[in-house]
Amino acid sequence: MQDPEEALSVEDFDPRVSAISVASQRLLEQLGVWPDITAGRHCPYQTMTVWDGDGTGRIQFEAAELRAPALGTIIENRRIVRALFDALADSAVTLIDGVRVSGWWQDGHTRGIRLEDGQTFGARLVVAADGAHSRLRQWVGLPTREWDYGQQAIVCTVRTAQSHRYTAWQRFSPTGPLAFLPLLSESGDEHFCSIVWSQDTEEARRLMGLDDHAFKAELERAIERELGAVDLVSRRYAFPLRQRHAKEYIAPGFALVGDAAHTIHPWPAGGESGLWGCSCVAG
Ligand SMILES: Cc1cc2nc3c(=O)[nH]c(=O)nc-3n(C[C@H](O)[C@H](O)[C@H](O)COP(=O)(O)OP(=O)(O)OC[C@H]3O[C@@H](n4cnc5c(N)ncnc54)[C@H](O)[C@@H]3O)c2cc1C
Repeated sequence: MQDPEEALSVEDFDPRVSAISVASQRLLEQLGVWPDITAGRHCPYQTMTVWDGDGTGRIQFEAAELRAPALGTIIENRRIVRALFDALADSAVTLIDGVRVSGWWQDGHTRGIRLEDGQTFGARLVVAADGAHSRLRQWVGLPTREWDYGQQAIVCTVRTAQSHRYTAWQRFSPTGPLAFLPLLSESGDEHFCSIVWSQDTEEARRLMGLDDHAFKAELERAIERELGAVDLVSRRYAFPLRQRHAKEYIAPGFALVGDAAHTIHPWPAGGESGLWGCSCVAG
């Protein structure tokens, strides 16, 4: 039985959450992992409210208009990754965990990877899903197109005085967007949100340097007190926003997927496809 105390702290939630669209949910259902993912805490959102901080426009999307139960679901990233690892462990795939890929080799038409523990594997196809800083992409020599947005995304969990009302809130300002993504604790508490606040680097640094009290005040002002006072805030993390896109996704016997192929930003700046992965070889 789950401990209802478990999610009473903002620190208890994974700072990295993903908005999983209905299309991504279907993919996870086909993989058979959706029941496992949603056995723990997750929060379907029925409404998305987006507005311009200059007061020039506001738009609202409702699941009911689409006759859908939800527009998507907010899920902690570690929960998705855990469910996929568990499914892999139960499948015919041999899972090698806890050891890093340390090299790539190619000998004529044969190619493969080396692991840190000395094991080597050969394969007809190597699929690299080793993230934005993919070493495999570098070893194989696939160039990327990259530039810095000059922005950072501040991510943390907050508790708000008012219920989030199963709504994903997003306010745009000249220096970047702010999103409040609804979370749900095991006990059904509707006052937790994961925030993603993208700001110009200098402004993001200033916000990161504030104490919790001052940060909460800035946050309340930035979201125009839509959810009342922000009464708790977790540790904050800042992610530099950088565009990184491989010019080619494939080479003979090799393919890039996920962030190794193209980075996806936290919610306000990017998509909501819900991607994840690990490196694997197909023999
Ligand atoms: C704060 C935040 C919020 C986000 N929100 C969303 C969202 O709402 N919706 C969305 O679609 N996306 C979102 N994203 C983006 C999403 O998280 C990424 O697109 C996704 O995690 C990429 O998955 P991946 O498996 O390709 O890479 P990663 O998640 O980076 O995984 C790569 C894996 O490879 C492993 N690895 C790396 N090198 C090696 C090696 N040499 N040997 C062995 N293993 C190695 C790493 O340890 C890691 O486990 C968000 C990102 C952030 C930072």
